[in-house]
Amino acid sequence: MQFDLKTNEKGNLSIGGEDALELAQRYKTPLYVIDENKIRENYRRLYKAFSQYYKDFKMFYACKANTNLAVMRILEEEGSGIDAVSPGEIYTSLLAGFDPSRILYTGNNVTDEELEFALSSGVRLNVDSISQLKRLSKIPGSEGLEISFRVNPMVGAGHHDHCITGGPLSKFGIMEEEAVDVYKMAQDMGFKPVGIHSHIGSGILDPEPFMLAVRTLMDIAGRVHEGAGVEFDFIDFGGGIGIPYTPEESKLDINVFAKKITDLFKDKLNEYSLGKPTMCIEPGRYIVGDASVLLTQVNSIKQSYRKFAGVDAGFNTLLRPTMYDSYHHIVVADKPYAETTQKIDIAGDVCESGDLFARDRPMPEIEEGDVLAILNAGAYSFSMSSQYNSRPRPAEVLVKDGESEVVRERETFADLFNKQNVPVRLLK
Ligand SMILES: *Cc1c(COP(=O)(O)O)cnc(C)c1O
Repeated sequence: MQFDLKTNEKGNLSIGGEDALELAQRYKTPLYVIDENKIRENYRRLYKAFSQYYKDFKMFYACKANTNLAVMRILEEEGSGIDAVSPGEIYTSLLAGFDPSRILYTGNNVTDEELEFALSSGVRLNVDSISQLKRLSKIPGSEGLEISFRVNPMVGAGHHDHCITGGPLSKFGIMEEEAVDVYKMAQDMGFKPVGIHSHIGSGILDPEPFMLAVRTLMDIAGRVHEGAGVEFDFIDFGGGIGIPYTPEESKLDINVFAKKITDLFKDKLNEYSLGKPTMCIEPGRYIVGDASVLLTQVNSIKQSYRKFAGVDAGFNTLLRPTMYDSYHHIVVADKPYAETTQKIDIAGDVCESGDLFARDRPMPEIEEGDVLAILNAGAYSFSMSSQYNSRPRPAEVLVKDGESEVVRERETFADLFNKQNVPVRLLK
């Protein structure tokens, strides 16, 4: 198994120096456990890989992957910027202490109110459509604003169709063939376009589609520079760097990847005389994905037409397997390296047949009361959770050097009714 799992002297899974079983007992399950040092290591590894080849390099953490304030604080300390995709994410980032200049807002299908909010927050706006540009221009205070555009470079990639955000079917960005005209239009309206952006998809482990997108975006940037005279302050290639979820997948060699991309970037800067703009990427999954596990207890073992281990988490807690058919590796917390002896379905506690974490998964013996650790649950996991089936959301704890702290309390029944009002005539 390639996942680098630590065990302690009892043979139990150890996360950030804490015993997974003890965490489950102390804080109850289901429980998200976030390993602070892993987030810092991931950030530094990626930053170093690129900045060693191109000095003026910035990372904008795509916070939709995980907006826990503690996670945001860690990344603020590391010096990251933020890719925000909604006013709520702008608000969260500001609350976490990010200066507005470090936040890039890439909204899609936004309202005028959302544009006003972004403008008044002082964040950078990455414009997604001509409609958005025109509406932005009508907002007082937008005159002379420095903006960038999200371009659809006609290249898409990702681990699932839902995660492909470039190409002919994608709703995102302006078309590449209209790019020169759109930049000119922005200049005519009094804006100062200084950036260009693309984000082609998520969960990419193969450098080729990413390289193709970089090449295409640089060619578009070259045309915009020549055709509209735009001097780029920054060129942003978006996120999408994948992590291995299955034992068979291998990690992207991040140094090789960074070298290839920065070489291509520098060649294209020369080819089109684009000067020395800041190079940006917007990693989400890569930074936080492998930094959390979801601990869940086995409530029941059932031999029906198939054999099921039923756990106390469900797609309300971790949606990815149901939404994207995603594989998440699962180990038994008190014997993470045990030999597999059976194939079993691991099912959640939501009343839906699609509520399955794994089908026919090779596992060691599992008993009721065992704690399972669902790995790689740091990205698009808690942030996609819901209260479906009226189940309060789980707690999150942050671990570092053998210490743990609750960074989000477990919801209670009361949280299910926070915002509800029953009309007086219906009161009992
Ligand atoms: C979601 C998103 C990202 C991050 O994607 P990852 O696959 O998590 O790296 C980056 N940029 C934009 C605009 C996004 O919407």
